[in-house]
Amino acid sequence: MRKRIVAGNWKMNTLPGEGVALAREIVGGKGTVCDCVSFIVCPPFTHLSEVAHALKGSGIALGAQNCAAEEQGAYTGEVSAAMLAALGCEYVILGHSERRQYYGETSATLRAKMERAYAHGLTPIYCVGENLAEREAGKHFDVVKRQIEEVVYGLTDEQFAKLVIAYEPVWAIGTGKTATADQAQEIHACIRKVLAAKFGAAADGTAILYGGSCKPGNAAELFAKEDVDGGLIGGAALKAEDFLAIGRNGFGK
Ligand code: PEP
Repeated sequence: MRKRIVAGNWKMNTLPGEGVALAREIVGGKGTVCDCVSFIVCPPFTHLSEVAHALKGSGIALGAQNCAAEEQGAYTGEVSAAMLAALGCEYVILGHSERRQYYGETSATLRAKMERAYAHGLTPIYCVGENLAEREAGKHFDVVKRQIEEVVYGLTDEQFAKLVIAYEPVWAIGTGKTATADQAQEIHACIRKVLAAKFGAAADGTAILYGGSCKPGNAAELFAKEDVDGGLIGGAALKAEDFLAIGRNGFGK
């Protein structure tokens, strides 16, 4: 049985006090969602430590939204994987389309970041997805295949066993446009096939999350699909009740 994951990407939102209040609300409501769901919250770097404290003992995991490609040293403004691990992070989002688009992250950078993450015991949530032009040109399968081959194929079997993938069509992120459940299933199945071509049967165990305007109202239909193992949630992760309802509607009470 694959892990069912609902992960919240808070992006550059919330001040520390607001982040702690949000985390506490999520902790308070977690009992209304099936125990089968693994919740992860990914706040900004600045309040990871305080949110870690608020999550203690709840079973909700902490993740970061990025990490440095380098181990340590003269890299002003960067945050290392070792630092994140020391603060209690278990996960790190890598390759989010906003990082690729606004900060020029390439497959080479992401390979390096992934190695750092694994070296410090963090599990990457690796994001892939096509933009609107690529979707309209029918290139979406090729795009995600390349994003996976260039970054994930370099992993060892042991590393791959822990990896989480998030398929996030760029045209659906923060736009209110969601991929249909059938569109999501089609590409999630393709991703699993691309993973299986390199890692064999282990790909059956990989959690592949859908991200892009996922909400309480569409979670059930999306997560009912065979190869959709949960969601990476942006906007709706900033309201505890919506975030929890995504888990509840998607996977039950
Ligand atoms: C995201 O950016 O990871 C995301 C899925 O955002 P939203 O849910 O707001 O579309």
